[in-house]
Amino acid sequence: MSDKSADLRLLLQRAIKAQIDLGMDELILTPIKESAPPRPDVVADKWPTDETKAPEVMMETPPLTQFETLEDHRLAICDCQKCSLGASRNKFVYGVGNTQADLMFIGEAPGADEDRIGEPFVGRAGQLLDRILAAIELSRQEVYIANILKCRPPGNRDPQPDEMELCFGYLHEQVRLIKPKLICALGRIAAQALLKTTTPLGKLRSRWHEFSGVPTLVTYHPAALLRFASYKRDTWEDMKLLKARYESMK
Ligand code: SF4
Repeated sequence: MSDKSADLRLLLQRAIKAQIDLGMDELILTPIKESAPPRPDVVADKWPTDETKAPEVMMETPPLTQFETLEDHRLAICDCQKCSLGASRNKFVYGVGNTQADLMFIGEAPGADEDRIGEPFVGRAGQLLDRILAAIELSRQEVYIANILKCRPPGNRDPQPDEMELCFGYLHEQVRLIKPKLICALGRIAAQALLKTTTPLGKLRSRWHEFSGVPTLVTYHPAALLRFASYKRDTWEDMKLLKARYESMK
């Protein structure tokens, strides 16, 4: 067998395994391809020119920064009571992973399992995120995972604009300290908050945006995949896009 055939076979095997790991019931035989870095004009301007903008409450200017390490930052804010969620939380959920990660995943808020354990994405959705990471040959130890809100909204309700406004500066500081080369926003709420838009997730995914100067891709939240298996195909396409750009940056 030629080297080229062996490479192709390996890529196909990986693509099939990844989709099985994702729980897909239909295989898409288009292997992950390495691609040239996207042209600069593919990345949107600092704030995307969507036809609809998010409410002004989401336009908070990040606060001046003062921390040298993530741990300093975490210790300084872990008793935060700036919004009402501080009083109802069990555990403050800062973030997890490689503090110098090139790739950062950002969700909306901790759920019940995260609130109990103090780590983002540890419930069923988190386990699916681990499988998604494995599908693109990454682990949670290699990337960094955080949420916009650091405390759980009661009953897993959606984060409120005022809560996100008050908490958003913490995420900005995490991004400044970690300096990721790529960000992946998980789900509609995280995507719309990061990109300051009300455009539906379906129109935001599969192309590059920018958050805090970092190229940012949007995909479905793993919890949505647990409810709607049909989203897995699009998520796999998004992950291939993410992986290709990640590989091209090495
Ligand atoms: S959600 Fe954010 S702003 Fe609200 S109390 Fe928790 S850390 Fe503070």
